[in-house]
Amino acid sequence: MSDLELPRLLAIDDSELIHRLLRLRLQHERFEMTFAFSGKEGLRMAEASKPDVILLDLDMPEMTGFDVLSELKSHTETQDIAVIIVSASSEVENKVRAFDLGATDFVSKPFDIVELKARLRSAMRVQHLIKILAQKAQIDGLSGLWNHTYYEKRMAGEFAEAIRYNKPLSLIVADLDNFKKTNDQYGHLFGDLVIERFSNILTSGRLSDIACRYGGEEFTVILPQTTGTESIEVAERYRQQLAACIWTDYPGLVVTASFGVSDIETMEGPKTPETLFSSSDRAMYTAKTNGRNRVEISTTQPAVR
Ligand code: GH3
Ligand code: MG
Ligand code: MG
Repeated sequence: MSDLELPRLLAIDDSELIHRLLRLRLQHERFEMTFAFSGKEGLRMAEASKPDVILLDLDMPEMTGFDVLSELKSHTETQDIAVIIVSASSEVENKVRAFDLGATDFVSKPFDIVELKARLRSAMRVQHLIKILAQKAQIDGLSGLWNHTYYEKRMAGEFAEAIRYNKPLSLIVADLDNFKKTNDQYGHLFGDLVIERFSNILTSGRLSDIACRYGGEEFTVILPQTTGTESIEVAERYRQQLAACIWTDYPGLVVTASFGVSDIETMEGPKTPETLFSSSDRAMYTAKTNGRNRVEISTTQPAVR
């Protein structure tokens, strides 16, 4: 859940009465509520809308709450949803079984609404922290950009979407020029500062562009809905901005990077996320051999600058 989005709750219970009670008593809480009358319907809704928390009745015909819980926990898309079991039975065996299957909490019916609210809030807080942690694991510490793992995942998604809807998609690969020398001459800390400044430049474009730290001093920017021609301009802007940076401790120093651009429309050979990357990477190496501080595109289109 982002800070702007309300957390979402899905209640799965075969009793209309419980639905009405929850609707009435939770209407002023800061979360969105949806309802399902059966395990089957609940699973379908959970998969489609990925709620933050599920309130799950144990005693339902056809599919029991245990069955639903096992299903939820065995699918990657739904396994991280917090599940609070609600049951008329308060038998220890049921509680143990629920927790062993991955339930977050267990509430006995008839429930005290004040207590239920507190438990819901607590579950939502934990969910929020889990999401922040998961996101942190995909962010590179030094640059604040998305890391390599995230790049691979995101590219796979953007690529599939671009192919399916026949939309443009480009990729910029950038690599700092003679960076080993920069480190050797001015120190590793200064090198880190360069990486930070360059990362700021790479995130200064459109919000929809996805800048990643691919490796040490190599970066990728995924540009959804953007053609190669447009992306050359974007890369050219990044190139100019870096070259124009004033380094307070070393006035007169010019730090540069080389850029390679390709897009799925004009790329040659089989179209996969990997081949798109190698097209851009090859173009970046062409920029290196052509003198660095340049932007090259992977096709026969003329180079910029
Ligand atoms: P080229 O223009 O051909 O890319 O030459 P280069 O020197 O940039 O390339 P090379 O691959 O030889 O060296 C990359 C250098 O980048 C070496 C490595 O120490 C430095 N580097 C990688 N990650 C970091 C980092 O996080 N911080 C700093 N300061 N330096 C880094
Ligand atoms: Mg380099
Ligand atoms: Mg390199």
